[in-house]
Amino acid sequence: MKQTPRIIIENVAVLSLDETIGELDSATITIDGGCITSIEPTAESPGTAPTHRGGDEVINGSGLLALPGFIDTHRHTWQSAIKHSYAELDPRVYFAEVLKGLGAAYQANDVYVGNKLGSYASLSAGTTTLFDWSHVQNSPEHSDGAIAGLAESGIRAVFGHGWPTSPDDSWTNNSTKSHPADIRRVQKEHFANGSIDDRITLAMVLRGPEEASSDVWQHELRLARELGLRVSVHTGAYARNANAAAVQQYADARLLGSDMTFVHCNHLTDAELQLIADTGGTVSLGIHCEMNSQGVGEIPFHRLLQAGIRPSLSGDTETKCTGDMFTQMRMLWAYHRSTLTRLGPEYAAQAPSVTMRDILGYATIEGAKALGKESEIGSLTPGKRADLQLIDTTALNLGPIQDPAASVVLAAHEGNVRHVLVGGKFVKRNGTLVGVNQEELMDEARRSQQNLLERAAAYKDLAGV
Ligand SMILES: [Zn+2]
Repeated sequence: MKQTPRIIIENVAVLSLDETIGELDSATITIDGGCITSIEPTAESPGTAPTHRGGDEVINGSGLLALPGFIDTHRHTWQSAIKHSYAELDPRVYFAEVLKGLGAAYQANDVYVGNKLGSYASLSAGTTTLFDWSHVQNSPEHSDGAIAGLAESGIRAVFGHGWPTSPDDSWTNNSTKSHPADIRRVQKEHFANGSIDDRITLAMVLRGPEEASSDVWQHELRLARELGLRVSVHTGAYARNANAAAVQQYADARLLGSDMTFVHCNHLTDAELQLIADTGGTVSLGIHCEMNSQGVGEIPFHRLLQAGIRPSLSGDTETKCTGDMFTQMRMLWAYHRSTLTRLGPEYAAQAPSVTMRDILGYATIEGAKALGKESEIGSLTPGKRADLQLIDTTALNLGPIQDPAASVVLAAHEGNVRHVLVGGKFVKRNGTLVGVNQEELMDEARRSQQNLLERAAAYKDLAGV
């Protein structure tokens, strides 16, 4: 029988995030059939090293550190071509303009281009799995475009099917409109086998009690469960949303479950966080965006840990932050330490302890749990998918390394990511993305941005912004 070519990475340092394997100064990682088949410490006598087979690709891992690809659990990828355009504006302008005027102006091709750009940018920065939080289902073609953009890039993704953007707020203000029924077509047409290319799966993003009427939010959650889909919902960001006490309402309706991911959670009460923990729910912190959005509320990081919830991390909207996960980790650590300083020694003495490995865990294995995929991804573990990144530890901003986790969290960036693999396939090799002409991609994104801005003017008048 013909054997598939294996990838063997030799003499590589490993930060596995797997509790049994831990960290290794030098190891051999073997990848076969898209999965990690073994991680062995480098043998001291050459005779005991794995035997190479003809056709194996052997990578010299000297000077490289292998770690799991990052998992971003909440990104509005469709906005990638309008990134950084709302940096200095009040967050309310983002809600009024992007989610109404600009969002309504999006055509299917803009969603496709945005998703493609966001996916490639993610891969380049070591993110191998993206939860595409897609609240721009303005037509069936918009959904198809979103999926095509994700699929083309080679990233592993969850397509979170949402609702349309419109010039008014009829979809998001005590809405009486049911979740678009097109989700049934999307599931049947694209996900009849459960996934696309064994990489892209379907989920549903909800408006919940903060944005929809009681009948509607209960119906949307029941629909997701009927279709067998996990759900994600913005919850408790900004004080006005907190008035809905969304988590308490889900609890009162006996609808909380381990299939739910709650995004932000700033204003949730401790009792609500405990309800999430007790029902096995997960949380996504968009730390960089949250810190850039005045009025969003205090970051609930310590309160989450106190409730027993280890958060996942996310890039949220690139209109006012960066999507890359190195930044999310770095921000969260700085937030943690500065909170201890700000609240003083008495608080610090009883605050939850957080380590560099915890922070890396939030960006990897906790992300996998928030997507219900912890048996497949999130750590370098034999049997799991070969979704990994190899970081150049000889770079001047990292070397000489003493503590790999600290170096990655404090200082690593996209430029240090030498290779990225998804399901055992190179998507970035020697610092260059595979299978894409970046100049053409940028031209395409620039054209989409320009068209959007022109078309948006008319929608902005309709939206009254
Ligand atoms: Zn969001």
